[in-house]
Amino acid sequence: MLEERGLYWNPVLETLPQEKIQALQLKKFRRILEWAYKNSPFYCRLYQDAGLEPGDIKRFEDIQRVPKIEKGMMREVQQRTPFPYGDMLSVPLEQVTAFRQTSGTTGTPVYQAETWQDWEWWSESWCYILYAQGYRDIDRVFIPFGYNIFVAFWAGHYAAEKLGCEVVPGGVLDTQARILKMQELRCTAFMATPTYVLGMADAARNKLRIDPAKDLNIQKITCAGEPGASIPTTKKRMEAAWGAKVYDHIGATEIGAWSYECTEQPGGLHVNQALFLVEIEDIETGEIITDPGKEGKMIITALDRIAKPCIKFDSKDVIRWADYECDCGRTFRLIDGGVVGRADDITKVKGVLLAPTAIEEVVRSISELGDEYEVVVSKKGDVDNILLKIEILPGKEGEQKSILFRLKDQLRVKTNLGYQIEVHPFGSLPRYEVKAKRFKDLRKTGG
Ligand SMILES: [Zn+2]
Repeated sequence: MLEERGLYWNPVLETLPQEKIQALQLKKFRRILEWAYKNSPFYCRLYQDAGLEPGDIKRFEDIQRVPKIEKGMMREVQQRTPFPYGDMLSVPLEQVTAFRQTSGTTGTPVYQAETWQDWEWWSESWCYILYAQGYRDIDRVFIPFGYNIFVAFWAGHYAAEKLGCEVVPGGVLDTQARILKMQELRCTAFMATPTYVLGMADAARNKLRIDPAKDLNIQKITCAGEPGASIPTTKKRMEAAWGAKVYDHIGATEIGAWSYECTEQPGGLHVNQALFLVEIEDIETGEIITDPGKEGKMIITALDRIAKPCIKFDSKDVIRWADYECDCGRTFRLIDGGVVGRADDITKVKGVLLAPTAIEEVVRSISELGDEYEVVVSKKGDVDNILLKIEILPGKEGEQKSILFRLKDQLRVKTNLGYQIEVHPFGSLPRYEVKAKRFKDLRKTGG
């Protein structure tokens, strides 16, 4: 059956002209809005307070009238019944088949209810991703994560099975055992955060004397959870370490898996416009940006998610439409360079706007530096201070002076800021298994 699909997981939807995609999105938007209005007390209140009824949405442009929701609201509703989801829930509790939650890195976790239909929808959305990244039924896919309350790669797991891949769950194994199992079974693909992709390669080389690029059979790696796979220098490091193609995907527990890179690697990610409506809003004026190139924050709607609908969610992710098309033939619009920042992550240091991803881009561009680094922003008197901790690769210590010169120079060019640099012995900075916490702003925590 898979052969009939050819190049695309969904040959019809992934090649629809934009005006037809928009017509489909409008139809689905009206349906989910009506669903939420009827079944979720939270959404009903929200829309009634705004004087909006589902029937008011007639044209695509009318969608802009619909009130937005934010993560803070999702947390607040959890105080209401039914426990533990609150009244954003749009199905009776007995239809809920799975509990998930966000990682809570930016506050109280958001609880997410899934019905069986929602879970099918999750795996379907991941099928678009994996198929576009070349996963087929002959692949043996390793999942190096334990089963837990985070949705993370479990939707990827189910999607890989749905595609007919053979899935190897490597959950309870430690990092070294996972690498040995991948080697023994000649696995062809795996999924992980960029931090762990680099961490596993590091462990393979230094603890097992295995060169992942030569001694393992991995051909493709799907990343999630961090922006690394869309940061060109980090992507290059991962691809070199594994001798494999590294692809990005972006998703979130409260939204779904909404975008993916394809095998053409055009420099951006396709938005899955069949399942999601993505709008980009100018952060200052609130206007919707439809032209390429201009950055704004993403407002997103999951068009088919029913248990806890995600309608006009202000994600705070900063994105921009790409000004190029993709050679793969998909008509789904591209966002250039993935998520380029978080509206609440971009912080002012010494009066200059700083995105943590810019520092990563520079550190990973200098080949004599290790993969790990840490940034600590603090205040000395009235002056902001940025401390950057790095590791120099073994054997390159003698070149420290030239390395630091290039590092400082590049940081100044890319971020317009000066840094205090601290060199740490190789292997001494913290290693992370899932998402890394490399950026610390002590000004916010009073440190
Ligand atoms: Zn493409």
